[in-house]
Amino acid sequence: MSETDKNTVSPFRAGFTCRCPGCGKGKLYSGLLKVADKCEICSLDLGAEDSGDGPAVFVILILGFVIVGLAVWVEFAFSPPLWVHPVLWFPTILAGSIFLLRVFKSTLISLQFHHKAGVGVVDDTSSHNASE
Ligand SMILES: [Zn+2]
Repeated sequence: MSETDKNTVSPFRAGFTCRCPGCGKGKLYSGLLKVADKCEICSLDLGAEDSGDGPAVFVILILGFVIVGLAVWVEFAFSPPLWVHPVLWFPTILAGSIFLLRVFKSTLISLQFHHKAGVGVVDDTSSHNASE
């Protein structure tokens, strides 16, 4: 029954809500962007999951496209003084980067878990030795 429950967790739902990919309930992060060592609900080893540089690439491309487009639009529509751009875009870039990094990192980790494509697959052989 618990195996069926694990398979019903949508990787996209767990990813977008930053929840554990195993149970969909525990928090994935222990800090702003630090993945927790283990799930507080199902004790899944989250420390073995690694999304690499993938989320950063998505965030750079998506946020860069949006911010540059908005900055160009603000410049041509309102012609503000030059200091308005850093005041406007630095906080937007900072908050947007952190938000999008959390979501993309969580989603990639959930997809890796769902498709069994993480580092944890290699460690499966060591769990058989643990029963000794
Ligand atoms: Zn969990």
